This record gives sequence, C-alpha cells and structure tokens, in this order.
Amino acid sequence: MRITIVYDSEVKKPGLRADWGFSCLIEAQDTPKMLFDTGASGSILLHNLKELKFDPSDIGIVVISHPHGDHTGGLQDIMEANKDAELYLPQSFRGGISAKWITKIKEPFEIRHNIFTTGELGGVEQSLVINTDKGLVVIVGCSHPGVGNILDAATRFGKVYGIVGGFHGFHDFDRLDPLSLICPCHCTQYKSAIKRLFQDQCLGCGAGLVLEL
Ligand SMILES: [Zn+2]
Ligand SMILES: [Zn+2]
Repeated sequence: MRITIVYDSEVKKPGLRADWGFSCLIEAQDTPKMLFDTGASGSILLHNLKELKFDPSDIGIVVISHPHGDHTGGLQDIMEANKDAELYLPQSFRGGISAKWITKIKEPFEIRHNIFTTGELGGVEQSLVINTDKGLVVIVGCSHPGVGNILDAATRFGKVYGIVGGFHGFHDFDRLDPLSLICPCHCTQYKSAIKRLFQDQCLGCGAGLVLEL
C-alpha cells in the first residue's frame, strides 16, 4: 500500500511544482489507483502526475474531500482524462461536474475492501480511512470538521496508526500523541510546532513524498 503526495505547497522531488492545494494518489492491492483531491490547478496536477510517472487514465477512483477550490481545481481535467473513473463527492458538493459514476457520500462507507470514507463530517468534508498492514491511516483534505472529530470518526474502523494531509488550525496536539505516523501537509498552520513536538513520528510533507505502508 503506497501513498504518493501529488500536490502540496512544498515539493520533495525536483521537477514537481509546488502550489496551494492538496492531492495524493493511493495504490492499494486489488484496487484501482485512487486519487484523493485534485489540487487547485488542473495543469499543475497533470504536470505533477506526469513527473511522478502516473497516467491519469489509470486512475480508477477519485475522492473529493470537500468542495473548496484548492481541492477541486483539477477535478474536471482528471475526469476528462479518465471518463470511466468513479467519483465520490461529499453530499454537500454543489456545482456541475460531468462524470459517468458519481456517488454522493453522507454516511460512513466502504469504497473498496479496506478503504473507507468517514462520511461527511461537519456538513462539509469526508476523509479516507485505509486499513494498512500497520494499522489505519487517515487521509484528510483540510480537516475543517476538526482533526479530533475526524480521528474519532475513524476509530469506528479500528485503531488509527497515522494521519496524512491538511490539519488547518488544529492545535489540540495531545490528540496526535498516540499516533505512530503524523504527516502534516498543505494548510496545517502549526506545522513547525507539530514537527518539534513529535520528532519521531512526524514526516515532512511535500509533492513527491512516498509513504509505503
Ligand atoms: Zn485546503
Ligand atoms: Zn478547505
């Protein structure tokens, strides 16, 4: 099981472009390649995917965390490059998007074996929960419902091993203590504090970062 950061305000690999927004690609056994969020710009997303040797037409599943432009900007381009991809949107998503297979998510749901969505939390955002060999890994977009609430929602699926994505203004740092992997990306306001407090568990995010789990 592998997570590759495709879109972030930092880069970890030469040739990739940094920008405000978030996207990552999930490769799990017996599951089509899955894109979580699409960054702010379709051209930057497609550029970074190409640099990382991913073909957009290979992406079988697209999940959008929440309807903010820094997560949906590349959506139309991805769906045009891949007309057969399944698209999972939070229930609150508004706006025209043409796709063959659209599922609106409100409640927790198993998208594929060992890959779950928390359901839409706080009326705005869904997060992914992936059951890896090491435990559950939670993937978040901006964490608008709050990292604590997202972790609480994820525990219905088991014990959480790690969290990756944008934590926004989250600063209830004790909640991160039990985790073995903390990867604060994108909009995380207290990135340096989190890195300082959790040196052993924390991994610096950036486009091109690959997490093998
Ligand atoms: Zn964001
Ligand atoms: Zn947002």
